[in-house]
Amino acid sequence: MLKRLFSVAVLILGAVVLAFGQGGAVLVIRGVTLIDGTGRGSVPNATVVIEGGIIKDAGAHAQAPAGARTIDGTGKFLIPGLIDAHIHLRGGRGGASASEPERDGIRALHSYLYAGVTTVFDAGNRPDYIMGLRDKERSGAIVSPRIFATGGTVASPNGHGGPYNVEAWPGDRKLLDEHLATKPDLAKIGQDEHGWGTRPQIRQLPEDLLEKIIRYYHSHGVRIIIHVSNEHNAIEAIYAGADTLAHPIIQAPMSEEYVRMMSVKHVPTVSTLTIGDNYSRVADHPEFLDQPLYRDTLEASERQMLKTEESAKQKENRWAAWMKVMTPVAQDNMKRLNATGKDIVAAGTDLSSGAALQRELELLVGSGISPADTIVIATRNAARALGKLDELGTIEAGKLADVVLLKADPTRDINNAKLVDLVIKSGQIIDRSRLDLPVNRRSTSQQ
Ligand SMILES: [Zn+2]
Repeated sequence: MLKRLFSVAVLILGAVVLAFGQGGAVLVIRGVTLIDGTGRGSVPNATVVIEGGIIKDAGAHAQAPAGARTIDGTGKFLIPGLIDAHIHLRGGRGGASASEPERDGIRALHSYLYAGVTTVFDAGNRPDYIMGLRDKERSGAIVSPRIFATGGTVASPNGHGGPYNVEAWPGDRKLLDEHLATKPDLAKIGQDEHGWGTRPQIRQLPEDLLEKIIRYYHSHGVRIIIHVSNEHNAIEAIYAGADTLAHPIIQAPMSEEYVRMMSVKHVPTVSTLTIGDNYSRVADHPEFLDQPLYRDTLEASERQMLKTEESAKQKENRWAAWMKVMTPVAQDNMKRLNATGKDIVAAGTDLSSGAALQRELELLVGSGISPADTIVIATRNAARALGKLDELGTIEAGKLADVVLLKADPTRDINNAKLVDLVIKSGQIIDRSRLDLPVNRRSTSQQ
């Protein structure tokens, strides 16, 4: 019986590898317009050479080795794989279809790949759930974007997050050791008083304790991403040593002093405009769910529920009204930060789908940021925010070969970032027709 199970497993793994391409071999994309994610101008008629999952060379000068598998990129545009630097993967916290949480999570992961997203950072989830999926992604057992995760989060007791709620020091350090034992890629701290918008007050970590916690993670080589929503907390967190801010300043327009401080500090700030925009969008314009990307990647039953039940609910949600007012403020804050330093703003959604990341790009452009800068924000800057810029985020020699071929120029119109032709992760072509998404079930059931 065991032996039979083993051979079935080998068969399944074999099918995945066949379906999703082979590592090791040389892959060349030629004749393509290269948008390398560094912020440099587009390079026409470029060649990109990928070997063993790594980018070997890229540019107009690059030479294709003889005998390589070649993709003709003529008339197409190559960008680094998109990165969502703030998600909460569905499935981990129950919800509508809690009966099959992992299936829901994997479908969401497939929606990212479908939309050209090759890396996600989960900023808080059930630790065993998300770390389990991370293991499966790394071993190749599931087809998925790269997963980085914090697992659980750190906060004050009765604060913004958990389960690591720290009060006494050094007594509660054992909670951080528990967290470290789950091998978080980054550690997320939740720091918010919640006494704004429509929410009641909650507790925050005192400044000296915040600094001790950050120093402790740093001494274990773990980077800190912190949830803050106002300028006071952001400044305190930055001077306590936080590496990345998980959100923009959302409670008010940034002061000139804050902007000048960021012109010196360049602390990566994840944009997360989509979560705030989404409440009132579902309430006021649920027809957006009929756009192709949503039809292709969200189950029909879920779209129907969002257009009816959820839309009605959000019409009555005072938080939705608050966020409708504050999203343009956050957008303007993102535009001003990007004008201050082109490496600061990083794309993230606080949601759980590839369509959401594409919406984030729309909202960034809607703030007045150029489409070309927006591509940098969703690639290089997001990798920087995660501390992964050495490996990811640009199309340059030595980086992991995560690239997306587009049918039209995203620096002309950001909506062209949705026209995905081919997704490559670690040098392997993702077979988008095999992803577990409505677009693929539709075509098989109609044939
Ligand atoms: Zn979040």
